[in-house]
Amino acid sequence: MMRTLTLLGATGSIGASTLDVVARHPDRFRVAALAANRDWEKLAALCRMHRPAYAALQDPAAARSLTQALAADGLPTRVVEGPAGLAFVAALPEVDTVLAAIVGAAGLAPTLAAARAGKRILLANKEALVIGGELFMRAVHEGGAVLLPIDSEHNAIFQCLPVGYDRVPGHAGVRRLLLTASGGPFRTRALADLPHVTPDEACAHPNWKMGRKISVDSATMMNKGLEVIEAHWLFGVPAERIKVVIHPQSVIHSLVEYVDGSVLAELGHPDMRTPIAQALALPDRIESGVPPLELAKLAGLAFEEPDTSRFPALPLAFAALAAGGTAPAILNAANEIAVAAFLDRAIRFTDIAAICAATLDRLPARPAASFDDALAADADARRVATSLLGHPVENAKMAS
Ligand code: NAD
Ligand code: MG
Repeated sequence: MMRTLTLLGATGSIGASTLDVVARHPDRFRVAALAANRDWEKLAALCRMHRPAYAALQDPAAARSLTQALAADGLPTRVVEGPAGLAFVAALPEVDTVLAAIVGAAGLAPTLAAARAGKRILLANKEALVIGGELFMRAVHEGGAVLLPIDSEHNAIFQCLPVGYDRVPGHAGVRRLLLTASGGPFRTRALADLPHVTPDEACAHPNWKMGRKISVDSATMMNKGLEVIEAHWLFGVPAERIKVVIHPQSVIHSLVEYVDGSVLAELGHPDMRTPIAQALALPDRIESGVPPLELAKLAGLAFEEPDTSRFPALPLAFAALAAGGTAPAILNAANEIAVAAFLDRAIRFTDIAAICAATLDRLPARPAASFDDALAADADARRVATSLLGHPVENAKMAS
């Protein structure tokens, strides 16, 4: 069966992995729309290759440059822009499958448009689920959409759960979800060095090649914290039954523990084309370009408990999930501000978790009865976190 796709975040790392898989199967997949933020030259190159009917750019000036470039090439691709353009391509009637791979809160609105339009959503944009949680899951249900996780841990868990799992762990005999984490580039780095590490060091992930924001999140382990929240909403498992274990080789992508003592795992090379291909082709299996895993060539598989003094972002995320309501949205927004400031060299690596903690302290969690509530909390948290950026002394105190 031919699937017709919209790719939100087409110019990013997940976008590239998805287009790589798609290009291997022209008999199965057709690209109807490609969407991104402002990199019109990269999007123009992708349009030349994949010839979508639509291209969407968030940035209007970039959209104008793209329109000119495509016209000069004689390509019929129609360019749309801004939030309305992104929502439009996410809900196109001819599209059945939407890749949600915009980074950060910016991905929420178009992913929600896809949910309301009843699409099959391949979800990479975990931040949408962290901000919206219950509301997002409700929109998926009410829109008749299907949510397929492609975050590697959640895809692994999805594959280890029974087909038709109804988000009630007791019904399936699920005792715990075990989320693996690599520990990132600073797992063994001297603690005293952490305030001085650079953005490039933080982005040099030992196993995965990813965008810069998620790479920094992996280095702080905020990524794992966001993934705990993501797993909670995707699979209906309470926080106390979600365990994080460090597994530096990233070969086991996560596990499901059942009440009879069985533990099921999904293994493979750390290459996002595997979960993407699994979700794209479901219930079939297709070639992804990922080489076979030769077990005898692995030096070994190691596991350890995460050290929360090294990775304070992890307990912060558990606390935000326990607090509920708008707390995860506050955490996510503060983290986005702090990570961007760290990448701009405006704050130190260790300030990231400190700014998140201070923002959560200053903004009490409120019930998130609507997306407006969640987005208001997001805006408040951005304001508070931004106000904390210029206070390195205060941050140093918080970090200690
Ligand atoms: P990336 O930085 O490589 O790409 C981000 C994409 O989002 C780009 O196409 C960019 O143009 C687009 N974008 C950014 N801001 C936008 C905006 N305001 N409006 C419209 N588009 C915008 O990031 P990535 O590594 O591909 O990650 C994308 C998402 O997938 C993130 O939520 C990340 O957490 C998740 N994810 C990534 C990986 C990975 O291996 N890269 C793994 C699991 C989950
Ligand atoms: Mg992941």
